[in-house]
Amino acid sequence: MVFGMANGLSSLISELVLNFSRDDEWTWSLEASGGFSRVSLNRLPTKDNLMRRGIALSSSVCLFCGKEEESRDHCFLLCPIIKIIWKKVWSWWKSPSLFCPSLDDILKGNFEFLDNKLVSKLLHVVCLSLLWHIWRWRNKILHAQTESGETPIRHEDIFPSLQRMSFLWTSNRAPINRVVWDNWIQRPGVLI
Ligand SMILES: [Zn+2]
Repeated sequence: MVFGMANGLSSLISELVLNFSRDDEWTWSLEASGGFSRVSLNRLPTKDNLMRRGIALSSSVCLFCGKEEESRDHCFLLCPIIKIIWKKVWSWWKSPSLFCPSLDDILKGNFEFLDNKLVSKLLHVVCLSLLWHIWRWRNKILHAQTESGETPIRHEDIFPSLQRMSFLWTSNRAPINRVVWDNWIQRPGVLI
């Protein structure tokens, strides 16, 4: 593995605490505490949620596109900026061109085009990892607004990091079917 990638992987994994105590499902948290617990995405402090709780904000606009109100579904799925990343994921996993799951389908791991249960689970991991990346990216932009340097953060490409982190997660979780990096990138639905 090249040095740069190894560095990238170790910095990613240092931010994670994984819980392997359950066999058949993934639990996770987007909270800064780092522990993976069961958290509803709709309890996250998205701007619409904060305003509903009476918290005054200078703007309710999405931090990615700067146009629509930031809600759970907009932030994680419907925002045009985020849609581009999901399209990359679906293309990477060679889904049918019209594949367009809801956020609930994504959270539950319902991928109708996959009939192999294990492959479906792997894609579920990728999706959860992307949700985590989106929320982390969104918070970086939010905090950068009070400092300088927002533009480079806004132009970050989180897709390569998503591929690396989900590879780490799956290779740690797939003791029987080995996941090899080159296959993961080129043919993620084909196990060896
Ligand atoms: Zn948006």
